[in-house]
Amino acid sequence: MYIDGNWRDARSGRTFEVTNPATGESLGEVPDGDAADVDDAIGAAAAAADEWAETSPFARADLLMEAWRIMRDRSEELAELMTTEQGKPLRAARFEVSYAADFIRWFAEEGRRLGGEWFPSARPDQRFLALHAPVGVVAAITPWNYPISMLTRKMAPALAAGCPLVLKPAEATPLNARAVFEVFHDAGFPPGIVNLVTASDPAPIGEVFTNDPRVAKLTFTGSTAVGRKLAAAAGGSLKRISVELGGHAPFIVFPDADPVRAAKGAAALKFLNAGQACISPNRLYVHRDQAEPFLETMTERVGRVVCGNGLDEGVGCGPLVNDVAVAKVEAQVDDAADKGADVLVGGHRLVEGDHAAGHFFAPTLLGGVTPEMIIYREETFGPVAPVITYEDVEEVIDLANDTNYGLAAYVYTNDLATAIRSVERLRFGIIGVNDVNPTSASVPFGGMADSGIGREGGREGLLEYLETKTTGIAL
Ligand code: ADP
Repeated sequence: MYIDGNWRDARSGRTFEVTNPATGESLGEVPDGDAADVDDAIGAAAAAADEWAETSPFARADLLMEAWRIMRDRSEELAELMTTEQGKPLRAARFEVSYAADFIRWFAEEGRRLGGEWFPSARPDQRFLALHAPVGVVAAITPWNYPISMLTRKMAPALAAGCPLVLKPAEATPLNARAVFEVFHDAGFPPGIVNLVTASDPAPIGEVFTNDPRVAKLTFTGSTAVGRKLAAAAGGSLKRISVELGGHAPFIVFPDADPVRAAKGAAALKFLNAGQACISPNRLYVHRDQAEPFLETMTERVGRVVCGNGLDEGVGCGPLVNDVAVAKVEAQVDDAADKGADVLVGGHRLVEGDHAAGHFFAPTLLGGVTPEMIIYREETFGPVAPVITYEDVEEVIDLANDTNYGLAAYVYTNDLATAIRSVERLRFGIIGVNDVNPTSASVPFGGMADSGIGREGGREGLLEYLETKTTGIAL
């Protein structure tokens, strides 16, 4: 753990083991922190808060740029560590490290450009100034699926805004978190500004984060169930919150689109990170007239995705995080098959040979998916592409909107009016138009409804860590 500028063990002396999800091998032990350690970390952050808030935004940006440079220099070792601990193919891990570093640079720049606003008044002898102030100590909880970029997406804006932070990473990927904190340590951040507490049991940490009066803001990325609980608890003490939660993305192919191009996009998108992404498409709506060429291309593409250890050349789909995840995917696929879906590719666990020790599910394509199936409503978080054939173009946006989630949606069309109307009617926070990667450090990322509250990235991502102060000035 990293607390007040020192690397240290848990007060209890306990540790927990980390394993490689592709091979089951042990990667070592990390400190198993609890409420006492998190109390130390919050104390360190609170003690450092005023000085950090008063540090010039230019000096804060310089430290962030140094962290960016170090992360870039270490990108290959970080990518290998990510593949080993989290499982994604090395190419995808390299891409994530670059995306993670982008957040650091973006917010270094954005923090330097933060100004206030001058307003007129109804009174001729009065002027107004609205300026920004850091919210204070930030508590951050991050997931395992993007074990580096989900950290920098919270850390960089908090630090640029002038907030110290305490971060608890997911129990599956503490080594990636440690490597990120090594970057910030080596960049020269003063003691107490960035603090890392690793723990095998997140619940006691969450309790301290949501109750401790020294914590001003909670930022969380993870499941809707946990996010809802933490947001409710943080609401008790009126903490600022950002919660980025689950999704159930529709992927709509309109009849005027090229079905082959759409299928190639869907196949590339769906198996990224073995489907363990909150913006992964979970319902692919394809018009009846295009179902044949779409499914033919998907069948061919999904059939050739190689599943295995992400360090091996040619692997396009890594393991799932654990056996619970494999069982959930299997249950959704079995339920769909029982209710009449066509299993066109895959549909089963991979348990033989090199797959035996890891948590693998075969890349899967389902046709004929209908609303009665669990997979139509529940997030899969696995390598399964469920295809729904629709008939009525007027109705398809309503079908897409028929979910409690509201994170990402995708539209394929060659008609500008259809694209614009769809974007306007879809109730989702992130929309790709003929685009399978509508994300970047420079734009807001986040969802509506059960997908969460707040935005990360872009200018909005910085504002999440700032309070506004209105100042009336009598002349
Ligand atoms: P997932 O299903 O993606 O693992 P979770 O919401 O369980 O999603 O995990 C996301 C993050 O939330 C992880 O860091 C995990 O340790 C943390 N977490 C899970 N349960 C709690 C809890 N009760 N309090 C605080 N953090 C939690």
